[in-house]
Amino acid sequence: MEKSDMKNSCHNTAVFGSQEMLQSAPADTLPQHGIRPEIAYQMVKDETFAQTQPRLNLATFVTTYMDPFATRLMNEAIAINYIDETEYPRVAVMNAKCINIMANLWNSPEQNKWKTGALAIGSSEACMLGGVAAWLRWKERRQAQGKPTDKPNFVISAGYQVVWEKFADLWQIEMRTVPLSLEKPTLDPQDVIKRCDENTICVVPIQGVTWTGLNDDVEAINNALDEYNARTHHDIPIHVDAATGGFILPFLYPEKRWDFRLKWVLSISTSGHKYGLVYPGLGWVVWKDKKYLPGKMSFSVNYLGADITQVGLNFSRPGAQILGQYYQFIRLGYEGYKQIQHNAMEIARYLHQEIGAMKAFANYSQEVVNPLFIWHMCRDYEKSAKWTLYDLQDKLKQSGWMVPAYSMPEDIEDMVVMRIVVRQGFSRDMADMLLDDMRAAIAELEKLQYPTPSRIACERKEKHHNRVFNHNGCRKK
Ligand SMILES: *Cc1c(COP(=O)(O)O)cnc(C)c1O
Repeated sequence: MEKSDMKNSCHNTAVFGSQEMLQSAPADTLPQHGIRPEIAYQMVKDETFAQTQPRLNLATFVTTYMDPFATRLMNEAIAINYIDETEYPRVAVMNAKCINIMANLWNSPEQNKWKTGALAIGSSEACMLGGVAAWLRWKERRQAQGKPTDKPNFVISAGYQVVWEKFADLWQIEMRTVPLSLEKPTLDPQDVIKRCDENTICVVPIQGVTWTGLNDDVEAINNALDEYNARTHHDIPIHVDAATGGFILPFLYPEKRWDFRLKWVLSISTSGHKYGLVYPGLGWVVWKDKKYLPGKMSFSVNYLGADITQVGLNFSRPGAQILGQYYQFIRLGYEGYKQIQHNAMEIARYLHQEIGAMKAFANYSQEVVNPLFIWHMCRDYEKSAKWTLYDLQDKLKQSGWMVPAYSMPEDIEDMVVMRIVVRQGFSRDMADMLLDDMRAAIAELEKLQYPTPSRIACERKEKHHNRVFNHNGCRKK
């Protein structure tokens, strides 16, 4: 074959016989000419191979399994722009139905037919909206009193998700954090009150703390604030970041008061794409009543037979997630969600028990309140270990598992933990496979004669810091 023939691959050249497959994909500038769609498809597909099986990824909270009908619905809706309400008026109504369903799951007292809430890309946008609403309400009140509005702050535990740091930086609102400790593993109400003043726009308890899996005690914080507000008239409200818990608590702990039943809870956000069981990106925020959503943030449309309120940082956005969420609501119903969350919780508890019983490890907390938990090495074991949890993470990766190791937030940052998030799509059988792989990995690590690089780095660090905590729960029965 002549050279020129080789260069000009034509429409019937096989994808892997083409000239393009001998070249790197463009990384800097827009190529002058296009390529055949099947070659472009292959290149994009191949570059985005999952590093692990999505369902073996125990690091993420985000949905990796939906049933074939849900998947089909969402794929068929891929072209829908949510904002085009005139084109897709029923999508806007479906969105409002989803907000109603969630508001009622969270015991909203709102009397309006359409409850006040907003669609978001994830909890991040939903938290921003809840936070901005609290800030604007505070600002309006302060202006009405003729008081300065230049130093707003909010109070949250040091176990916050990164979105709250973004909220603080982007809107220039001081973040006052309450450190976590082994004695106070969740947000302590009195530590909250100590940080409150006339400039506090809200307190943000978390349901399903990303770092630990635990829940802040919203009722206790509400009661402490009630007393504080009666005394000071600062009327500091609560926004609950229920990214995980928003879809766990109503099904597994319906009696627990963390939601709109509490006086000072004025807004709640959650991730539809976490335990709402929808593919990314979907989040929701709901206000206790329309009066808590500042007029500046919302615009109303009335061509749907009723006033529907719209709020958001984005304008255009995908609409398919709404179909996915509404499908899950009517497909599963209350009982269906309960069964799925129950199973996730049972499997998390099983893993918690098995891992906590291993001689190397101790659980961070005795309870599992969301389908996720963390553990650390026992102090005694750690003294002579030649490895760290980072080494175990690497070993497990070799068998396809993604189980992250990380260090804890301020004040207990010397503590390295490992976390498992159990989601729909993870079975007891898979849990047993994981445990087997863990035991085999640990047996290998225990044969090491010399410390691993991560162990050496860890010891160097320890010499510099004085440990501020004692590991707990290492005595084995
Ligand atoms: C996941 C998470 C967020 C951010 O949510 P996204 O849906 O990923 O944007 C915020 N807060 C908490 C507590 C979370 O767990």
